[in-house]
Amino acid sequence: MTKQTALITGITGQDGAYLARLLLDKGYRVVGLTPRRGSDTMWRLRELGVLHDIEIAYGDVTDMGSVLGILGRFTPNEIYNLAAQSFVGASWDQPTHTADVNAIGTVNVLEGIRQRLPEARFYQASTSEMFGMAQSPVQSEKTPFYPRSPYGVAKLYAHWITVNYRESFGIHASSGILFNHESPLRGIEFVTRKVTDAVARIKLGKSEQVTLGNLDAQRDWGYAADYVDAMWRMLQQPDPSDYVIATGVTTTIRDMCRLAFEHAGLDWTRHVVVDTGLFRPAEVDVLCGDASKARERLGWRPTTGLAQLLGLMVDADLRRLA
Ligand code: NDP
Ligand code: GDP
Repeated sequence: MTKQTALITGITGQDGAYLARLLLDKGYRVVGLTPRRGSDTMWRLRELGVLHDIEIAYGDVTDMGSVLGILGRFTPNEIYNLAAQSFVGASWDQPTHTADVNAIGTVNVLEGIRQRLPEARFYQASTSEMFGMAQSPVQSEKTPFYPRSPYGVAKLYAHWITVNYRESFGIHASSGILFNHESPLRGIEFVTRKVTDAVARIKLGKSEQVTLGNLDAQRDWGYAADYVDAMWRMLQQPDPSDYVIATGVTTTIRDMCRLAFEHAGLDWTRHVVVDTGLFRPAEVDVLCGDASKARERLGWRPTTGLAQLLGLMVDADLRRLA
């Protein structure tokens, strides 16, 4: 049997790296569409030991010519669109760029599939940020959306254009509405990794404190390695659909800090400082997902609780800094 080929946009990101490893383990040929950058962006792929097993294709989802060229050259069977300006906080500083990559980038990939590879299966990296000011205490595929940031608004366009291409052209296009997921490979700008990096620095005597914003927000945090498995499962279904992927447990930033510092034997109240300047112009106060549909149809369930996840992250940061 010929090898299945998967194309991952955003392969140098947290999820791209874990997904590349998962697909390589399953015997796929893995191609990563990635923009040529001025500095090295391959550290995650290197850390997972997969950099030399994948193929890099330089391109940009906002550049239709490069998308069409890469689809034509590699003819992937599965396309995972993970490319994004993924940091909510930065989306107020760069709203147009965020829309270009997260919204227009997605329709570029879908249009490329429609023109060149209509049989290919497509995964869109949608997000719980689309629920924003949540219209229900627990959010499922049926909960109405109310995004609260330029990031969430752009991702909502990408979600609906995915549904639209499925309904208009019969493309096997699925949208994973993933709640926050973290790992030792999470970007340092996100609150969990900012905290675990700080815990390691404080433990090693390299720092005294960390400055955070709103500690009252609540998030449903899972482990990225579990979540990329859900992406793959969606594309193995006979029919495309939309799925919430979440743990169903929500925790405040404050309690997340306590757990991360406790893992290193530290008292968080002695090291965390709040700066209201870090509060967001509009906040997503609480997210908590209901992943029953994924459990029933995909046989997917999370394996890692928050305390265990933060332990993995703190230990990895201690190793990096030691
Ligand atoms: P990361 O920020 O770690 O990765 C984003 C990736 O997109 C990077 O490889 C980045 O490359 C790439 N990228 C950025 N701009 C472009 C572009 N114009 N063309 C091609 N590639 C580009 O995000 P995650 O891995 O955490 O998330 C993966 C996806 O899932 C994102 O779409 C994110 O919005 C979404 N998501 C993430 C959640 C989470 O909790 N992690 C929750 C829900 C959804 P470079 O580094 O070179 O900029
Ligand atoms: P998001 O859910 O995708 O925005 O993921 P983040 O990890 O960036 O933020 C999660 C929550 O943590 C949000 O409600 C932020 O307001 C809150 N938060 C509090 N302090 C910080 C901080 O210093 N950095 C970040 N990134 N978020 C913070």
